[in-house]
Amino acid sequence: MNNPVRVRFAPSPTGYLHVGGARTALYDYLYAKKNQGTFVLRVEDTDQERSTEDYLQIQLQALQWLGLNWDEGPDPKTLKDVGPNGPYRQSQRLDIYNQHIEQLLNSGKAFYCFMTDAEHDELKKKAIEQGDPGQINSPYRNKSLNEAKTKIKNGEKPVVRFRVPDELKIYKIHDLVRGEVEFPSNMVGDFVLVRSDGMPVYNFCCVVDDALMKISHVFRAEEHLSNTLRQLMLYEAFDYKTPEFAHVSIILGSDKQKLSKRHGATSVGQFCEMGYLPAAMNNFLALLGWSSPSGEEILSMEQMIREFDLDRLNSSPAVFDDVKLKWVNASHLRALDNKKLWELIQPVLNKAQIHVPQDEDWCNKAMDLFRSYLETLQDAVELFKPLDSNHFVINDEATETLLWESTPQVIAKWKELLLASSEEYLSAEQFSQLQNQVKEQCGVKGKNLFMPIRVAIIGKPHGAELQTLVPLMKKADLIQRAEKVLEKLLKNKPEKK
Ligand code: GLU
Repeated sequence: MNNPVRVRFAPSPTGYLHVGGARTALYDYLYAKKNQGTFVLRVEDTDQERSTEDYLQIQLQALQWLGLNWDEGPDPKTLKDVGPNGPYRQSQRLDIYNQHIEQLLNSGKAFYCFMTDAEHDELKKKAIEQGDPGQINSPYRNKSLNEAKTKIKNGEKPVVRFRVPDELKIYKIHDLVRGEVEFPSNMVGDFVLVRSDGMPVYNFCCVVDDALMKISHVFRAEEHLSNTLRQLMLYEAFDYKTPEFAHVSIILGSDKQKLSKRHGATSVGQFCEMGYLPAAMNNFLALLGWSSPSGEEILSMEQMIREFDLDRLNSSPAVFDDVKLKWVNASHLRALDNKKLWELIQPVLNKAQIHVPQDEDWCNKAMDLFRSYLETLQDAVELFKPLDSNHFVINDEATETLLWESTPQVIAKWKELLLASSEEYLSAEQFSQLQNQVKEQCGVKGKNLFMPIRVAIIGKPHGAELQTLVPLMKKADLIQRAEKVLEKLLKNKPEKK
């Protein structure tokens, strides 16, 4: 029987969850689900200065929002460990690391190094001059462990370095994305495992944890390929089984430079704020480096789980295309039924303090009319704002229209006809008919007709499609708005002269 699939996402809580990290977590999740495997979340928080509890919470929330729920790892609410392979936070695994360091020190595979920074820099300079920048041979490499322990007793604070094998050796992996990758051992010199403050470093903790947590496949960003040689040496030193590696392609911005804050939003939380759906985010992120065998681009999570296949991971850089993300989001939004769509839009409107009727008929009508205009949930703010009379203002853009001679007459007629109609809401057709009546009765046409009516409805002469808006506005509100504009006209009259 094949080994069970166990994958892990190993974020460092030193910032927000970047879309690149989210994509890695998504691939972990898809691969685990596809293979009835286990998805482990491990927190790499050994960088105590930069790791914070807040960032940890934010990252866990972002993963939860995406629906990438882990089987083992900290509980997202209590942060207590769930699963038999914990602790899942590296800061709580120091005893385990110390035992492993002891093992390497005792077997001579690692050594205490008391070099000062200045001595280290000097050696590095020499190595570069000799054309071999990887190789720095510490003078403490062959000192005895007892000698080192005496120095430590006397208060000296060494680092622990790994002893890179003396003989040149080629380390190899068969990367699931990149194929064969070879690393000659002399690419690195004796590297640090534990800093002088006693904290073990990423490359070391990662190997110990991946081995003890029985991780079968490591998905991670391409930039970690340069860490892999050190990690392979450690697997060998401990005689631990090496997992399979999949170094997924780098994500670029539209200018083909590495995606960064310069390009705009890069954290999952920002996309949530901007009104993107988790389903669309997952769909879009999956396509950054993977494609469905059918070539389809709008995919549900279930479909992606079914179709996810390592053979379809792409090694070339992926471009984060905002236009495509919007399209993917719009496609997912428009596939929702009215009820679900309204449920998602309501909190966005509440947050923007936009109040609109809540009855089912009205909401259905609004969803029918607006759904094709929505690309993100945030778009609802601008679409619905004109419907809330509390937000009605007569915009400066209306000034010119309000100065036309025929404008007061047009708006007064519009109001009069509204008062005369018996409907609570006008349909799009009734609205057109009313406009025609104003046209006939006032003898005004073209922009002299349409712009004043527009100002009387939305406070400005350009903008939203009235055929869509008017059927969603209570006649009483339309009358009130027309009155406000007429009042303003009245007030302005003497100033015009
Ligand atoms: N903590 C590392 C990071 O956030 C994880 C690297 C790995 O997956 O091995 O980049």
